[in-house]
Amino acid sequence: MPEFKAPLRDIRFVRDELLDYPAHYRSLPAGGEATPDVVDAILEEGARFCEEVIAPLNRVGDLEGCSWSESGVKTPSGFKEAYRRYVEGGWPSLAHAVEHGGQGLPESLGVAVTEMVGEANWAWGMYPGLAQGAMNTLSAHGTEEQKAAYLTRLVSGEWTGTMCLTEPHCGTDLGLLRTRAEPQADGSYRVSGTKIFISAGEHDLAENIVHIVLARLPDAPPGTKGISLFIVPKFLPGADGGLGERNRVSCGSIEHKMGIHGNATCVMNFDGATGFLIGPPHKGLNCMFTFMNTARLGTALQGLAHAEVAFQGAIRYARERLQMRALSGPKAPELPADPIIVHPDVRRMLLTIKAFAEGNRALLYFSAKQVDIARYSQDAAERAAADLLLGFLTPIAKAFMTETGFEAASLGLQVYGGHGYIREWGMEQNLRDSRIAMLYEGTTGVQALDLLGRKVLMTQGESLKAFTRIVHRFCTAHAEEEGLKAFVEPLARLNREWGEITLKIGVQAMQDREEVGAAAVDYLMYSGYACLAYFWADMARVAQERLAVGSGEAAFYRAKLQTARFYFARILPRTRGHVEAMLAGAGPLMELAAEDFDLGY
Ligand SMILES: Cc1cc2nc3c(=O)[nH]c(=O)nc-3n(C[C@H](O)[C@H](O)[C@H](O)COP(=O)(O)OP(=O)(O)OC[C@H]3O[C@@H](n4cnc5c(N)ncnc54)[C@H](O)[C@@H]3O)c2cc1C
Repeated sequence: MPEFKAPLRDIRFVRDELLDYPAHYRSLPAGGEATPDVVDAILEEGARFCEEVIAPLNRVGDLEGCSWSESGVKTPSGFKEAYRRYVEGGWPSLAHAVEHGGQGLPESLGVAVTEMVGEANWAWGMYPGLAQGAMNTLSAHGTEEQKAAYLTRLVSGEWTGTMCLTEPHCGTDLGLLRTRAEPQADGSYRVSGTKIFISAGEHDLAENIVHIVLARLPDAPPGTKGISLFIVPKFLPGADGGLGERNRVSCGSIEHKMGIHGNATCVMNFDGATGFLIGPPHKGLNCMFTFMNTARLGTALQGLAHAEVAFQGAIRYARERLQMRALSGPKAPELPADPIIVHPDVRRMLLTIKAFAEGNRALLYFSAKQVDIARYSQDAAERAAADLLLGFLTPIAKAFMTETGFEAASLGLQVYGGHGYIREWGMEQNLRDSRIAMLYEGTTGVQALDLLGRKVLMTQGESLKAFTRIVHRFCTAHAEEEGLKAFVEPLARLNREWGEITLKIGVQAMQDREEVGAAAVDYLMYSGYACLAYFWADMARVAQERLAVGSGEAAFYRAKLQTARFYFARILPRTRGHVEAMLAGAGPLMELAAEDFDLGY
């Protein structure tokens, strides 16, 4: 496994130089504490923790995995101690409200720490990551008593949390779920049912686990309109707020899976467990949606994490591995062969990984800024605008970043040749670990339907315009700058085309609803490439400005500019294929009858 170095320089480039986070924090009521010094100290300390404490456990986690017995789940060696240090360092409380024991710092600062944690060891990071989901639900919808009983313990890191949605017969279609909650005379509920694939459902890192569970009340209407949300703790809180009676929820087994071995994926049995309603009855899914954007950005981040790890491993190997000579003649004549980084195809792979890692980082932190504004701005119109933009960007970030993260992880393995396929180098683990991100928190297909159907067409294109207006302003402002024309002109064309294609699909969809599903994934990938084109153009702008004033880090900024050129020349043309495919209509997908697929077999 290549030694992990937190990509602090690039994180700072994106946050400070590209997106001006210092000004953003000054403009937020919750941002006052996030002065540049504080942010720097947190990033440095977070980087040290990730490099020294959790990155060394990444391989151990993969090799040992978790083990299940009647008495519970044991996590891999070192995981528990690392979690203890994480809690001692105050990391779980970073971006939570002071009144619940948090440090009151903006959500986007938590994202930066989560990025580094995810890169160092994704499977380990899922334990505190799932707890964040539970905390967000409780902060948004819990009563004051529920917050006092559960949220403060989660914020301190003493307890962790889960999100229990999936059941054996229902994943994407939560309307099918069967877990039941029977009201009791004391105001609590008896929750019964089986949940599967529950990440961090059982483990030995913390003394208690707070499950956030979707279930149906006895009088619930069928489908998604009859789902309610419950807190079901492993141990009920005692009179003193600490651990009380053991609740009737248990882990029946754990899954044996392709990757993220260090994270326990559990079958959870609720056998009349005591639960407490959160939010109004039958409004469980609405409650979930309020923080879904943040949860999905958390998974988007996984794509970035695997691309970053692929890059760090591949670049080191490509500089050291000697094979063949450059086509134009030896580049290292003193050596028996040239390092493979001289070969155009190896450069194609390295630059593709780099373009995805750095481009997706820009998309992530741009979206995280919208999370801050949507949550903390005191101006209602500003909050609504950020929410609209975030709603549009979230499915793109979730699906595009995880799809390209997987591609980057695969290319990272490819750079190593056959050695990439061997465990020792860590590239095959990175590829295996990256695959799940395209599935959980809504598959790519489902994100694509959300984007094109719910977010774009149902708002008559308003959410798309919220982003294309930003791109348009950028293109207009920089149209006359000689050094940027190579970026601005194709970007402006793409931006116009984006609207035109949307209109065409909208018209087709009025004749046949299947057109939306048929176009959706190509539309989403097109949108992802278009978003990154904007960010790469803007990164090129910053790099040119820095180079023009004679920055001391000329090589860093030149590399940005060169990667931007690579992105526009070699990656952006992929949009052409997506346009053709999405405008080809539903016919070629729907003609073949379901029963005729395997004729001739
Ligand atoms: C390792 C792991 C960890 C997980 N962690 C959690 C967790 O912590 N909590 C939790 O609740 N769940 C968790 N999940 C479950 C995960 O969220 C689901 O697996 C996922 O939502 C997909 O559901 P499914 O597996 O039932 O697939 P299905 O819903 O059966 O989908 C099968 C295929 O059909 C496609 N499909 C379905 N409906 C449509 C449609 N309308 N249009 C187009 N395509 C469609 C899907 O895209 C997919 O390709 C986890 C899963 C795994 C493997």
